Amino acid sequence: MSHLPNVRYLSGFTGSNGLVLLTPKAVLLFTDPRYDIQASQECDCKVKVVTGSVWAAAAGELKRRRIGRVALESAHVSFDQWASLASLMGKRVRLAPVKDAVESLRAVKSAGEIEAIRRSVALCSRAYESAIAQVRPGMTEFEVAAELDHAMRLLGAEGPAFETIVASGKRSALPHARPTAARLKPNQLLLVDMGANLDGYASDMTRVAHMGRPGARARSMYQAVLDAQLAGIEAVRPGALCREVDAAARRTLKRSRLDRFFTHSTGHGLGLEIHEIPRLGAKVDARLEPGMVVTIEPGVYLPEFGGIRIEDTVLVTETGVEILTPTPKEFLVIAS
Ligand code: ZN
Ligand code: ZN
Repeated sequence: MSHLPNVRYLSGFTGSNGLVLLTPKAVLLFTDPRYDIQASQECDCKVKVVTGSVWAAAAGELKRRRIGRVALESAHVSFDQWASLASLMGKRVRLAPVKDAVESLRAVKSAGEIEAIRRSVALCSRAYESAIAQVRPGMTEFEVAAELDHAMRLLGAEGPAFETIVASGKRSALPHARPTAARLKPNQLLLVDMGANLDGYASDMTRVAHMGRPGARARSMYQAVLDAQLAGIEAVRPGALCREVDAAARRTLKRSRLDRFFTHSTGHGLGLEIHEIPRLGAKVDARLEPGMVVTIEPGVYLPEFGGIRIEDTVLVTETGVEILTPTPKEFLVIAS
């Protein structure tokens, strides 16, 4: 395994160059001399510090152990890495692709991981609360994003879990808008999608505020998205199909004829990465299990008006669902 979140999950190693070899008898981490001390501190598996390619070192180890079949993470290993391993190993060894082997283990979180996500979610909400109180008309989206990122750092985050989204006015209709130099004006929507990275674990939250009192259209759109989000959360329980959760949110938006403006899936797992399985999409037949942590984030995007998305991080419990995000969900009005 060379995908770093999987390396971290299997070995504890957080450096930037690592490869984990799993055999029926052992877990081995290969890294380079820059990480000699760090790897010995972080890992309880066997660590091999090698000069040169970790792939070549792993190939040597496979030969020594006379291993005849090797599975590689097809979604993360490049063609070049595959080819070089194949040529180093020769014909005696069969390479096979494997997908989501570690990712599906990671989908169900341990008690320790759930605690880490809880802390990350709480930090994200505290940062939002303190930064949003500073927001005034005339600020740029860049400045708002900087305030949010600054607050997360001050509260102890390693950084944002992804590039903070701040989108005002019509730009809020772009689900993955990047902040720009646009200034916040009165009578506009303001969408913030943010997450912290704390002890390696992500959080993810979206809130929408209005610069000044929102009009009837914005208010009814907000209510429709909130109803859909609550319906999505309501549908989360162990055994539920991912597509049923998605359908619950979509069905609710249909009542206000806004479902066709909901252009992405209802949510996703998160943990060491911001997007993990399961994906809560219309065609996903996987079932939710206790210990999974997912987002619920329906949104409606009207190109000439703006977009509203409301996103919480929730935990699938033994009996149902627990909302981890503490931030209130009423339509926030920023004085303008
Ligand atoms: Zn988000
Ligand atoms: Zn999300």
